[in-house]
Amino acid sequence: MNKLALHWKIIIGMITGVIFGMLFSQISWGGNFISHWIKPFGTIFINLLKLIAMPLILASLIKGVSDLKDISKLSKIGGRTIIIYLCTTVLAVVIGLFLVNTLSPGRSISEKTRNELMSSYKSDAEEKQSAAAKQIQTGPLQPLIDVFPSNIFNATTDNKNMLQVIFFALFFGIGMILIPEKKAKPVKKFFDSFNSIILKLIDMIMIISPYGVFALLAALVVESPSADLFIALGAYSLTLILGLIMMIFIYILIVKTFTGTNPITFLKGISPAQLLAFSTSSSAATLPVTMDRVENELGVDKEVSSFVLPIGATINMDGTSVYQAVAAVFIAQAFGMDLSFTTQLGIVVTASLASIGAAAVPSAGMIMLIIVLGQAGIPEAGLALIFAVDRPLDMCRTIVNVTGDATVSMLVAKSVGKLKK
Ligand code: ASP
Repeated sequence: MNKLALHWKIIIGMITGVIFGMLFSQISWGGNFISHWIKPFGTIFINLLKLIAMPLILASLIKGVSDLKDISKLSKIGGRTIIIYLCTTVLAVVIGLFLVNTLSPGRSISEKTRNELMSSYKSDAEEKQSAAAKQIQTGPLQPLIDVFPSNIFNATTDNKNMLQVIFFALFFGIGMILIPEKKAKPVKKFFDSFNSIILKLIDMIMIISPYGVFALLAALVVESPSADLFIALGAYSLTLILGLIMMIFIYILIVKTFTGTNPITFLKGISPAQLLAFSTSSSAATLPVTMDRVENELGVDKEVSSFVLPIGATINMDGTSVYQAVAAVFIAQAFGMDLSFTTQLGIVVTASLASIGAAAVPSAGMIMLIIVLGQAGIPEAGLALIFAVDRPLDMCRTIVNVTGDATVSMLVAKSVGKLKK
């Protein structure tokens, strides 16, 4: 077992977790047993990953920026990162719109199923609606204001404030570049070793990852809704999954064309992060592993990865972008609405912004979807239609979110001569 590559160990953990969950759902006390005695270990595993995310961003970004030694290098990497992230996001929305308009999954849903879904998931949908209402109530520039923390210690107490911590780390790193090297040295040394310790902690957490994903998937199986619902929403799910697969192919193509990396090497290198993204549904929780794999297996220099990946985990969510386009138009179709070209163009803008604004945690994309629906004039209550299958699809879109970040980090690294080969 020890010689087995990490991704195989994680896959074995996932498969046994699913089988275990299926077997235990057949026993009367099985569901309770898994929820009370197995699931907690999955929760502990996710907590450990989240625990490491904030110190990792702080240490690796400060170290990364101060290693750059001059500001022009930072703005070069920063500019390219943001532009490429925006391009992949818009591309993802366009692919989603293309597929959902061509395949029309919403037309296949019967009125009976629609009414059933609407009544069963009404209250769940309302909960998400009120979460989204809070976001909408604020002014248009609130997301920008939210990037600037008024107290760094407060900011680090909540994983949702990742962008604030990223801002502080960049600001602090720039300050370090601007003072004489000799003066910055002790702080730099401190963050260097702080960073190495955090990386060691990640290695330690990864040792238990197969057991963590086992527990997470076993719990998911006993808590999942009936298979009938998946069939009713099959056309929608398949359309979205097709879009997500297309994105993975596009990444492989980009990586091959621009960096010459073999697709197998790329997928093998990033697969543990993809499997964790699938198991945890959170790009933030997966970030430590994404960084580790991109640096050690895909050859991206720390100078680039420490900057590109934490930002990507929070603002670049291509899987979420495909999802928002497909889900919004699907709901419109299910209600028999026809969306004009301008409305769909509006979806390109709002879905791109909504995916940028979505937090890197489970179900975040669904909350932001309400904003897209509202903007396009699609009934927000329609969220109830897709609620039942959202978790498994969230798992799938998080894989794409993480793979997209890895792809862009390789691209940026290549463009500034920081991709080891
Ligand atoms: N779960 C996704 C992520 O963390 C966000 C989403 O809900 O789409 O990347």
